Amino acid sequence: MRIALYPGSFDPITLGHLNIIRRSSRIFDKLYVCVMVNSSKQPMFTLEERSEMIRRTVSRLDNVIVETSDEMLVKHAKQIGAGVIIKGLRAVSDFDWEFQMALANKIIEPEIETLFMTSSSKYTYLSSTVVKEMAKYGADLGDFVPREIIADILAKMNDK
Ligand code: ADP
Repeated sequence: MRIALYPGSFDPITLGHLNIIRRSSRIFDKLYVCVMVNSSKQPMFTLEERSEMIRRTVSRLDNVIVETSDEMLVKHAKQIGAGVIIKGLRAVSDFDWEFQMALANKIIEPEIETLFMTSSSKYTYLSSTVVKEMAKYGADLGDFVPREIIADILAKMNDK
């Protein structure tokens, strides 16, 4: 069985992330979407909130499993039996860091491959940071995130 892992912060999930999830789920038998702890970012949503929002969004894709992890990425991939890590690439600016990480990961777990999937041109501008910035000003989020989670973002904004 071909198993892949798509990791990220997903704070929150965007239409760009969802596009990568949909396309990857057609290539692999099973796709794990893993919300990872990123100690260098101060998240808006908790790990549980983020994974629950993704679960709601991908409920119709039956080979997609949503989970959370605070483990090292390649160790986690090995543990769940994923031979491939998927990374989305928006622009050249994503590439430098991802290239370094892919090479470092290859040294630690040589049998795990990193596969880069280019962003759909519609979403190359889109990041979770852009979404949070737009939400601050009350912009319509329909072009940026799955409609199932718009209310969660607005509620979080009102909490603050
Ligand atoms: P960000 O906070 O920048 O959105 P994440 O850590 O949540 O980043 O991203 C998880 C993965 O999704 C990364 O591989 C990232 O490159 C990819 N990604 C993020 N946004 C997009 C997009 N708009 N199109 C394609 N891939 C994306």
